[in-house]
Amino acid sequence: MKTIGLLGGMSWESTVTYYTRINELVNQQLGGLHSAKIKLASVDFEEIEKCQVENEWEKSGEILGKEAQRLEQAGADFLLICTNTMHKVVPQIANYLSIPILHIADATIAELRSKKIKKAALLGTKYTMTQQFYKQKIIDSGIDVWIPKDADIESVNQIIFAELCHGKILAESKEQFITVINQAIEAGAEGVILGCTEIGLLIQQADVTIPVFDTTEIHSQKAVERALAD
Ligand code: GLU
Repeated sequence: MKTIGLLGGMSWESTVTYYTRINELVNQQLGGLHSAKIKLASVDFEEIEKCQVENEWEKSGEILGKEAQRLEQAGADFLLICTNTMHKVVPQIANYLSIPILHIADATIAELRSKKIKKAALLGTKYTMTQQFYKQKIIDSGIDVWIPKDADIESVNQIIFAELCHGKILAESKEQFITVINQAIEAGAEGVILGCTEIGLLIQQADVTIPVFDTTEIHSQKAVERALAD
């Protein structure tokens, strides 16, 4: 079994999900007392979020690159960055590494393609929804991307940072997300990407009528596939 490197803490609420799901999936496949081989680096999210707000992406890339390097030195065979947003600085992080990064958007695109989705709604932080680093990868794979209108981009982003990253799960926020997803369905979306690793804490498949692509779950599954591959 290969050792999975997790670059987490962004936020720690979703890193918990990664840790749990990866171990569960390994145990489902191998049985007994088997669990995943994991090296975890968990950063102080306040520092990273400050870089986002202040548009200091290079600085955040340096912090994450150095952490990633420590994971490689500690024996990780490949790396997961446990946030969609910070994939913006993947090229910079990769410069610190000789092990591969399992990209969250690539993992999600593979899943969208296997379900033959041609148009997907993308929910995430305002950076993920409005900037190109993530969205463009999906578009380049031949899948149309729908994003919410400006006011909803703000409220989705606000719910992520002010509630979900603090582990606050509120019924009214769930309703708000469902309303946005219903708008996406009306606009022709055939699936919804939970493109922020905390959204799965709020929205599950049973809440909506189109397939849900939870990036935390998909990323965890692909990691286990790779860890257990020959
Ligand atoms: N975990 C979130 C994501 O997947 C948001 C936190 C962040 O800005 O990194 O994008």
